[in-house]
Amino acid sequence: MTAVKLRAMSRNRLVVGNWKMHGSRAANKALLDALLAGLGGADGVECAVCPPFPYLQQVSERLKGSALACGAQNVSEHEQGAFTGEVSAAMLAEFGCRYVIVGHSERRQLYGESDARVAAKFAAAQRAGLTPILCVGETLEEREAGKTEDVVARQLDAVAIDPNARAVLAYEPVWAIGTGRNATPQQAQAVHAFLRKKLAPGTRILYGGSVKAQNAAALFAMPDIDGGLIGGASLAAQDFIGIVKAATTAASERTGT
Ligand code: PEP
Repeated sequence: MTAVKLRAMSRNRLVVGNWKMHGSRAANKALLDALLAGLGGADGVECAVCPPFPYLQQVSERLKGSALACGAQNVSEHEQGAFTGEVSAAMLAEFGCRYVIVGHSERRQLYGESDARVAAKFAAAQRAGLTPILCVGETLEEREAGKTEDVVARQLDAVAIDPNARAVLAYEPVWAIGTGRNATPQQAQAVHAFLRKKLAPGTRILYGGSVKAQNAAALFAMPDIDGGLIGGASLAAQDFIGIVKAATTAASERTGT
C-alpha cells in the first residue's frame, strides 16, 4: 500500500452542517429526530451540526449519547469580560460543543473579521479544548486573477496550527457558497493538495460550497478531501443524510472495506 493511501486512511471522514441563522425549537426538533433516525451509526464518518447559539442547549441535550456531535458557528477570541454580544469558547464547551467554525467567509466579509482575529479565535477555541474548523477560500475575482493559492496560503499561514492539537481545515471557495455552483472535484482537489502540504499529515481538510447529495460522492472520492462543511443542504434531513452516506461510501473505498 502506498504512503499516500496509508496517510489518507488515518484521516476519519467528517461531515459538518452549518445551520447559519436558521431554525426554531420546533424545526430543530424535527430535523434532529429525522437525522438521528436516518444516520444510525454512520460507520467510519464523524458528523456534527452547528446551530445558532440560542439552540446549543437544545441540540446538545438531544444529541447526548448519539454519534452526532454539536458545534458552534463562531466564538469570541476573548476569555471573558466586557464584550457585549460575544460568546466565549469555555461557554461553548460547557454547552456541549466539540467543534467551532472560525473564519467563515460570511464572518470575514460581513463582519470584517481579519486574519489576525480569526487566528485569535482559533487559539481561543483550542485553549478551551474545542476543535476549531478553520475556513479559507478565495473570491471569484481572486480565482480569476490566479490568486487562489496566495489567498488560502495567507489565510492559513495567519493561524499557528500546532500539529499536535486538534484542528480541521475547510476549503470553501467564496463563489461556491450558497450559490449552487460547487467547485469541480478536480478544482477542489487541487487546492486541497496544495493546503495538505502545509499541514500535519493527520489534519483533515473539508470541502464546502454547494455540496449536495448529488455531487458529494464525486467530491469525497478525491484523495485530499476528507469530508464536507455543508450549509443549505444541512437543513433538510434527507439531503444531509445523503451527503453522510456518500462520505461513508468514500471512507470504505479508502480503507478497502
Ligand atoms: C457554508 O456556508 O459553509 C456552505 C458551504 O454553504 P452552502 O453549502 O449552502 O454552499
